[in-house]
Amino acid sequence: MKRRNFIKATSLTGVGLATGATLSACKDSEKEKALPIKTPEVTAPLVIATWNVKNATQKAWEVIQTGGSALDAVEQGCMVEEADETGQSVGKGGLPDRDGHVTLDACIMDKHGNCGSVVFLEHVVHAVSVARKVMEDTPHVMLAGKGAEQFAYEIGFPKENLLTEASKKAWEEWKVKSEYKPIINIENHDTIGMLAIDKNGDLSGACTTSGLAYKMHGRVGDSPIIGSGLFVDNEIGACVATGLGEEVVKTVGSFLVVELMRQGKSPQEACEEAIRRIVSKPNSNFKDFQVGYIAVNKQGETGSYAIHKGFSMTKFQKDRNENLEATHYINE
Ligand code: ASP
Repeated sequence: MKRRNFIKATSLTGVGLATGATLSACKDSEKEKALPIKTPEVTAPLVIATWNVKNATQKAWEVIQTGGSALDAVEQGCMVEEADETGQSVGKGGLPDRDGHVTLDACIMDKHGNCGSVVFLEHVVHAVSVARKVMEDTPHVMLAGKGAEQFAYEIGFPKENLLTEASKKAWEEWKVKSEYKPIINIENHDTIGMLAIDKNGDLSGACTTSGLAYKMHGRVGDSPIIGSGLFVDNEIGACVATGLGEEVVKTVGSFLVVELMRQGKSPQEACEEAIRRIVSKPNSNFKDFQVGYIAVNKQGETGSYAIHKGFSMTKFQKDRNENLEATHYINE
């Protein structure tokens, strides 16, 4: 049995790792007999994204329908939100840090497990595309700050002012009190994270953000950290996070969700368990912050879960582009 089929079998039957360990003592021929595998129908292609971003999922869907890969789809889907100046949490028009700088974090991951990331990037709108270039054109995984910016210019990205009048005004109003408080469900839209399965059944994911509004200068969140803000394993599934990045990093959230799916949990169960890890920490002040996850498994089943009400997932599947409210831990 090939490793890929074996993983499918264990996750589908829910027998997980324990059965895998038992089977490893069997001969190969016995393994074949022990687990007759019905390869499940894959409900693909599909695109899911954090929050209500139907224009972005529409774009990604079109990319897939015209023969593009899941990687192209998630990049181009995220770019829609990066270019939208009215969205104050991603790309151009993102809310600045406490010193008035808009600094972007983004990452991308392909079906081979390759990844690229940019952190603390200024003056370049399409952070997700720079992250893809880091993945494809450099020997590195992550570029930061001035180095990331220099790399972007060298390969042709234009320099732009990302601080729009609206975001500058919001920052100036914030400065009056200068209170640092993570905002739950900022405008109902924070990081855009997107996961896709293309017509070949291959998975990719990406996410892009201007991070927490009015953060300390230099602060980097979960979104560009592979395993925290995003993780893709083409044999199992993928997950992406939004919300207070510090809490996601502390639990390596997206990797955790994918590993839970590997052990047999559905995407929904895995997202719920990852949120439980956050809220069940001793002295967790989870009532004051939001974290949300969306996930998809290799078969095209999806899940979404958050701490607070207000989080949603946009899903494009079978020609339907829908925004679906996520279930949540705190039931007000
Ligand atoms: N996760 C992002 C960060 O912590 C922000 C967000 O999604 O609200 O930077």
